[in-house]
Amino acid sequence: MGSYYFTETEGKQAHDPLFIGKTNSNSNKLCSSPVEDVKEPVIIGAGPSGLAVAASLKVKGVPSVVLERSDCIASLWQRKTYDRLRVHLPKQFCELPFMGFPNDFPTYPTKEQFIEYLEDYANEFDIKPRFNKKVAQAEYDCTLDRWRVKSEGLNGEMTEIRCRWLVAATGENAEPVTPKIEGEDEFGGSIKHTSLYKCGEEFEGQKVLVVGCGNSGMEVCLDLCNYDAKPSIVVRDSVHILPREMLGKSTFGLSMWLLKWLPMRLVDRLLLIVSWLILGDTSRFGLDRPSLGPLELKNLSGKTPVLDVGTLAKIKSGDIKVLPSIKRLKRHAVEFVDGKMENFEAIILATGYRSNVPSWLKEGQMFSEKDGLPRRPFPNGWKGQRGLYAVGFTKRGILGASMDAKRIAEDIERYWKVDKT
Ligand SMILES: Cc1cc2nc3c(=O)[nH]c(=O)nc-3n(C[C@H](O)[C@H](O)[C@H](O)COP(=O)(O)OP(=O)(O)OC[C@H]3O[C@@H](n4cnc5c(N)ncnc54)[C@H](O)[C@@H]3O)c2cc1C
Repeated sequence: MGSYYFTETEGKQAHDPLFIGKTNSNSNKLCSSPVEDVKEPVIIGAGPSGLAVAASLKVKGVPSVVLERSDCIASLWQRKTYDRLRVHLPKQFCELPFMGFPNDFPTYPTKEQFIEYLEDYANEFDIKPRFNKKVAQAEYDCTLDRWRVKSEGLNGEMTEIRCRWLVAATGENAEPVTPKIEGEDEFGGSIKHTSLYKCGEEFEGQKVLVVGCGNSGMEVCLDLCNYDAKPSIVVRDSVHILPREMLGKSTFGLSMWLLKWLPMRLVDRLLLIVSWLILGDTSRFGLDRPSLGPLELKNLSGKTPVLDVGTLAKIKSGDIKVLPSIKRLKRHAVEFVDGKMENFEAIILATGYRSNVPSWLKEGQMFSEKDGLPRRPFPNGWKGQRGLYAVGFTKRGILGASMDAKRIAEDIERYWKVDKT
């Protein structure tokens, strides 16, 4: 109760010109924010997941407020992806609810086409996010029976929104993971995460080490080859590489279809036989396969198989070298765990991303502090307590986010209607 009255008074003061000088001089920004009470659900993040929830609510007649830290929708796609990126799965598996891709888009739309689709989607459902609003803290206040969401604007000014429903849509890829490597200060060349990589032009003629062999790492290697750089790839773990297409169908689409009739293990076996026929034995090139099949592994650990778009051919031809884990960096050189040493001019970290939910959401139940993902596994992780929801944390891409979004909208609609009567 005490804390409520304290911040309520401060909220009022922040709107009062007589008090502005006083509030600005307050060093504790989180306590001195102007306060806005909203009836609408508040969605944090204007990526595909946040847009999907806003649209699904809109279709049910429920308005929403969307807060986005960046100055555009889908900032991951617009700001942190490489130029040659296309959606990895066929377009029918990357659609948001209630609006398909245009018919004249190719099966695998380019990044620009995907962004165009998302812009059209936001316009179609009249979604107008509040940009440059980075949520710094969200906490449930049981006295008020409301979520208190504090966000920071461009100039560091804090505002508070109070709402009944809070949807976390900040994504599994909110922050780049950049592991610390021994000797990195000594290296001297450029070390950058894939979120900063645009194209291979700047690396023409250079020896580049790509760390990580997921879809991004493999594709960046291919891009580097196409710009006459000399890439090598660090492969630490076993990895499933599958052709993007099998028997004239997308591997993903074919897997989904087979899963309707056959158990997962059998589908995995079929996928591995066809992959072997098309790609050969990948372990001959230093790419060992995990003991679990690709679908079972994805299901149990969330680890996505690599859908090959031409990188494997470059590995086979020797244009891309496969190397083991890094032991340490030296001046323009890398020492590997097998004791070998090689010179490199640049390093690209294809080491993935992580959720940032634990940094801003103060709640101990729904999300794990460890990985920032819902504790309850798919398909049950979308709903928490006291009006808290999660969208886009299922490790199932846009398809998973769309499923979450529809469930969340249905759930909120029920309470929204009760409130209205
Ligand atoms: C290179 C790459 C290729 C991919 N290709 C595919 C694909 O082909 N198909 C597929 O299904 N999936 C793909 N994915 C996975 C992909 O990330 C998504 O499916 C999709 O972008 C997830 O959308 P999202 O809205 O959940 O997260 P994001 O797209 O990451 O959006 C989250 C938004 O939240 C904002 N945000 C974060 N923190 C805060 C905060 N504290 N306050 C306010 N706003 C915040 C971010 O700025 C961002 O705009 C790919 C991912 C990558 C990295």
